Amino acid sequence: MDVHVVRHPLVEDVLAALRDRRTSSDVFRQLARRVSLLLVAEATRDLPLAESAIDTPLETTTVRRLAARVVAVPVLRAGLGMLDGFLELVPQAQVGYFGLERDETTAVARRYYEKVPKDLGGAVVFLLDPMLATGGSAAMAIEGLAELGARSVRLLSIVAAPEGIALLRSVVPDASVYTAAIDRGLNDRKFILPGLGDFGDRLFGT
Ligand code: URA
Repeated sequence: MDVHVVRHPLVEDVLAALRDRRTSSDVFRQLARRVSLLLVAEATRDLPLAESAIDTPLETTTVRRLAARVVAVPVLRAGLGMLDGFLELVPQAQVGYFGLERDETTAVARRYYEKVPKDLGGAVVFLLDPMLATGGSAAMAIEGLAELGARSVRLLSIVAAPEGIALLRSVVPDASVYTAAIDRGLNDRKFILPGLGDFGDRLFGT
């Protein structure tokens, strides 16, 4: 499984503010969007282009346009914080949703909602899930997308734990991961350390 850690001064800077417990939800939302833009730019670097001709005001020229069908699937609810940034860079993307929630005591994920575009086989599928902690929910989502025909899924996570990466490597080796940081590990409540807390709560102010 390919793991890409997006190294960039702007990523570091936005991560610093996301991690800060004093950052309010409105600012957290803007920061989540900003770091997502940087992750999306990296994760779409190899998408195919197709040549076509257009007329500039001066002459006809050959241009290259995106030739991939792109599907973005945010995992509810935290993944919604990454969707705006994704659609800003890939406005033609189709959007599906996966509803997963993890049991507060066992940290085991459960799928409660699913709505994704048809024919995932012909699309490049991006799963948006900002915190790759145990990897349980990401693995469940990637396996669910594979059952629906997705051939290889790119997971965009803002912060990842080594435990989550290890699980994905063993159960979904064809997936790839794009993340802004690989943190130290999980605590006994399966939160990422140092992490940034509960992403959904910080995003939505709950
Ligand atoms: N989900 C979060 O929101 N934060 C973590 O640290 C782990 C899972």
